[in-house]
Amino acid sequence: MNLETPLLIDGAWRAGTHAQRSTVRDPATGASLGVLTLASEADMALALAAAQRGFEVWRKTSAYDRAKILVRAADLLRERAETIAQLITKEQGKPLAEARMEAGGAGDHVDWYAEEGRRAYGRLIPPRQRGARQIVQREPVGPVAAFSPWNFPVSQLVRKIAGALAAGCSIIAKGPEETPSSCIEMCRAFQDAGVPNGALNLLFGVPAEVSSYLIQSDVIRKVSFTGSVPVGRALGALAAQHLKRCTLELGGHAPFIVCDDADVAAAAALGAGLKFRNAGQVCASPTRFFVQSGVYEAFVDAFVNHSARLAVGAGHDAATQMGPLANARRVDAMSAFVEDARECGATVRTGGARVGGTDGFYFQPTVLTDVPDAARVMRDEPFGPIAAVARFDTLEEVIARANALPYGLAAFAFTSSIAAATRLADDLECGMVSINHFGLAAPETPFGGWKDSGYGSEGGSEGLDAYLQPKFVSQIGV
Ligand code: NAD
Repeated sequence: MNLETPLLIDGAWRAGTHAQRSTVRDPATGASLGVLTLASEADMALALAAAQRGFEVWRKTSAYDRAKILVRAADLLRERAETIAQLITKEQGKPLAEARMEAGGAGDHVDWYAEEGRRAYGRLIPPRQRGARQIVQREPVGPVAAFSPWNFPVSQLVRKIAGALAAGCSIIAKGPEETPSSCIEMCRAFQDAGVPNGALNLLFGVPAEVSSYLIQSDVIRKVSFTGSVPVGRALGALAAQHLKRCTLELGGHAPFIVCDDADVAAAAALGAGLKFRNAGQVCASPTRFFVQSGVYEAFVDAFVNHSARLAVGAGHDAATQMGPLANARRVDAMSAFVEDARECGATVRTGGARVGGTDGFYFQPTVLTDVPDAARVMRDEPFGPIAAVARFDTLEEVIARANALPYGLAAFAFTSSIAAATRLADDLECGMVSINHFGLAAPETPFGGWKDSGYGSEGGSEGLDAYLQPKFVSQIGV
């Protein structure tokens, strides 16, 4: 993969001309995989001009023709899924089986947006005057600046690209410098499918430089960011200052509630599967496990049993069930969370330490029990392989504790009572609730958070709306 020429500007692959470069590392060993060139201001200026020209062409392309190109891109993504999956694992570290699911699902997102773009219906409003026509048409908002992170290099970025293109917007995407190659290969599929020059541009750079340069530009009409709360807050403030529409998909701290009447075995198996997927580096990962007193011991035993047996290793090793963390910073963060929880009185039931020597960024799948709500791991997003388990007695109490944090992205609950399920669905303050199964992140369903977890949705018809703006036309025959 060519890290030398990673920028896609106006249909051509180019080297970044920034004086700084970024080393891409294999998280399984810490070794360098190559050096990525980065975008300078001159490169970004070219991308902005290209996005402006690309928008003029793409917005005038019919929704029917845009959809045909996007469906072709979806097919190419499926054809190239194995190559893309290998690149994800190499640079991001997740087990190949997970990377295959991520790469294999990209085409589905594109297909869904391609179809939805053909249904960007407006409406007719009954006029007060006979012969008049009052029309609401929905038009693309304009060139988009999109910023996506390293944890799902393909599935985070594909939603932004497909949503923007389906709506008729052009896009400048800043991909993650830690995991660039799968993003490059994905953009190549859109280009090969016939997306016109300038409609899709890809940059890598110094993140703060790229975001401040692009968001302040008059060319950009919409900002979409996925990442941490502090960075989202900063980019949201900049977008507001320049009156740019904005979608923010930020961190979470999902409660996983297991009631006395739940299928405990199913909850423990699914909870462990979800918790340690991508080594916990998932914004919707369950993090606070609230278990009702009657099933507390049974759940903990089953959950620890699943967690302790997970095979940790390099993502390309077929036996691996959990890979390394993205970088050394995340490993240090996990050690600090465990130490703090211990000091607060929690018990480490399994894991709690880094794995191996100095090579690779590994941390054990970790289950902490009897964790007080005051522990840092119950308040700050761990974004790693740590499950914090705590006891609860009543539904009122657990809803209040689940809602106590500023985060509001995902929540999970297990109960066999329809009344409890309805109460939880109604009263949990978050953008997505999944009850008795995992039901998040399909292309046709909205994905997004409340409170500090951000605003706006990706996926679902809401995902397309984010790239459209209404125009009211009133006309009368003369
Ligand atoms: P970070 O806050 O440094 O970076 C998060 C992401 O934002 C990275 O992709 C980074 O390149 C980008 N970024 C940072 N500063 C930016 C700026 N000024 N402009 C544009 N983009 C910028 O954190 P990190 O150590 O890389 O990741 C850990 C934290 O990030 C976690 O605690 C988690 O909350 C968050 N995160 C969230 C998601 C998500 O899916 N919502 C994904 C990745 C990381």
